[in-house]
Amino acid sequence: MRVWIGCLGCYNGGDLVGEWVEAGNATDFEADFANRVKVPASHIAEAHEEYWVFDIDESPWKLGEMSPSDAEAIQELIDELRENCLEDAYGYWLEVTGEPVLGGDIDAFRDNYVGHFPTWRYYADEVAIETILMSVDQAVANYFDWEAWARDLAYDYHIVDTLQGVYIFHL
Ligand SMILES: [Zn+2]
Repeated sequence: MRVWIGCLGCYNGGDLVGEWVEAGNATDFEADFANRVKVPASHIAEAHEEYWVFDIDESPWKLGEMSPSDAEAIQELIDELRENCLEDAYGYWLEVTGEPVLGGDIDAFRDNYVGHFPTWRYYADEVAIETILMSVDQAVANYFDWEAWARDLAYDYHIVDTLQGVYIFHL
């Protein structure tokens, strides 16, 4: 993800002074700000030293303004989740639970994320086959009410419908 980091002191004085950088380099950039960006004389004279992320690009999640160190921490989280292709699922988890992006319970996410499936029925059918229908006679299985099963099973889950299928979480 990329972030636009600017000086708060300059901003409050009416100057947009800053630059787009990779979020992974946010704190290095912040520490070296005056050498990396053309700053006005007032920046030096007033000894500005507070920086802020005013804009964000290429983020997998909805994010607001934040400090550069938070942006860097979020990038680390993105990298970690991306190794397992979990960054989209984590975004939906944040929407479902209202957890903060940082400082949230990432273990709860890992424990409760069931998976990504084409449809809810696809998942519900799978569960039915692997649980109840394993042990019943085929003749009985033919009368199984798939729709009712899927409808009732849904009470135990958060189901996020997207254009790319459903993301399923335990309640
Ligand atoms: Zn400044």
